[in-house]
Amino acid sequence: MAEMRRVDSAFSPYIESSELSRLNRDAPKDWVFVSDELYDLLEKSAQISRLSEGAFDITYASVGRYYDYREGKVPEPETEQLAVQAIDYRHVELDPATHRVRFTHPKVYLDLGGIAKGHAVDRCIAILVQAGITDASVAAGGDSRIVGDRNGHPWTVGIRHPRRENEMSAVLPLVDTAISTSGDYERFFERDGIRYHHILDPQTGRSAAGAWSVTILGPDATTTDALSTSVFVLGVERGLSLIDRLPGVDAIVIDPQGQLRYSEGLTDL
Ligand code: ADP
Ligand code: MG
Repeated sequence: MAEMRRVDSAFSPYIESSELSRLNRDAPKDWVFVSDELYDLLEKSAQISRLSEGAFDITYASVGRYYDYREGKVPEPETEQLAVQAIDYRHVELDPATHRVRFTHPKVYLDLGGIAKGHAVDRCIAILVQAGITDASVAAGGDSRIVGDRNGHPWTVGIRHPRRENEMSAVLPLVDTAISTSGDYERFFERDGIRYHHILDPQTGRSAAGAWSVTILGPDATTTDALSTSVFVLGVERGLSLIDRLPGVDAIVIDPQGQLRYSEGLTDL
């Protein structure tokens, strides 16, 4: 729990003293030195952005910061129009030699909400493994990682039904894997028949509508967390075709009609 809190206090954009908040304040003006841990997260984020052709983009928050899902607040049209131009992961310049970072657009604002929870889970697993633990499960919201098994049996992880509360769409027996789910039912409000939720399409700055939920299985939770957000934005066809190109990664998508769709690695099961 201390490790989870440490990761949150370093990488939350809502905590003014966090390293990420400092970056958001200073990097539009000048190069900023960052910790190895933040540098690695930014590099991994950029890698997933390239892989997903920009569907995953931590600069989404240049617009995303103006939404408040609890209050039902959307950005002012003029604000949105200006901010959407700041969404582009290529505006985040990384210097591998010095681990410095700068933004090449003045309105860039980063949020690591699509990857940091997976990173926190991986950090906790690393601590447990280092302590000699061979069987464990660590979960933080929609992101989990499992090492070993549960008294000789698989762990079971359920995928929530995206529209019916307290109902499961699937239950998976799992050993030695990471699993992340992104859904449009976590943080949202509805207005005039539009569902405003917390996963934004970087191309439009508006909520992505390509799926109801996306679950990714893979080697580590940092990867599965970022890929679940990516595939959610890409939608069923482009998302599954990306996953089918990645060895050791699989996906279960619930499409906008409520149908379960699987990546190639799962269709034979
Ligand atoms: P959660 O487990 O919090 O539901 P997800 O893995 O589903 O997280 O990711 C949603 C979070 O990712 C959002 O709350 C936001 O912080 C961030 N996010 C939203 N859209 C994008 C995007 N296109 N690229 C990267 N991160 C995003
Ligand atoms: Mg995610």
